[in-house]
Amino acid sequence: MIEMIVLATGNKGKVREFEGLLRGVFGSIVPLYDLESPPEVIEDGDTFRENALKKARALASFAGIPALADDSGLEVEALQGRPGVYSARYAGEGATDRENIDKLLAELGSAGNRKARFVCFLALVTPEGKEITAEGSCEGAILTESRGQGGFGYDPVFFLPEYNKTMAEIPAQLKNEISHRARACESLVRLLNQ
Ligand code: IMP
Repeated sequence: MIEMIVLATGNKGKVREFEGLLRGVFGSIVPLYDLESPPEVIEDGDTFRENALKKARALASFAGIPALADDSGLEVEALQGRPGVYSARYAGEGATDRENIDKLLAELGSAGNRKARFVCFLALVTPEGKEITAEGSCEGAILTESRGQGGFGYDPVFFLPEYNKTMAEIPAQLKNEISHRARACESLVRLLNQ
């Protein structure tokens, strides 16, 4: 078992989520905000995988212990996979969730094909250069208006047909079981156990 890893996210919600999803897999998980002056990585890759690897490589060589990084976003079929790696800044740098959703709904308009998926890539990189990547996704459809108060990002317009609810309407615990991040973690654990 890998004793200690550092997690390349400063988002407390995500740290909590990963700690739950990876319980018992690593000895301990050190969040980014526990490090002094961690490297700042610009997420300018063309793919989620590239961005996750870039973050994990930089952090592993800085911290001297294995680093786990994630990159995730929303891919909409009728928009040829957009917003994709631009999900966080779809309506511009520093855009709010509301602004990003408004831009997405405007772009989709009355399109009949509303198919979409959340995608998450994880990269685990050791200071010696060993690299493992894992992917997870969650399928759904984009509604024409927001529903629900939970979650974050595009959750209020992301409809899950099997639950007849949006990602913002289901309990957080259920989201943690079916989300793209949960599935990527399951895949990573499988690869580590091989
Ligand atoms: P990052 O992986 O933190 O860079 O996330 C990129 C962006 O993708 C976020 O700012 C959200 O807009 C979107 N996103 C990622 N995961 C989710 C999710 O679980 N729900 C809703 N939006 C998400």
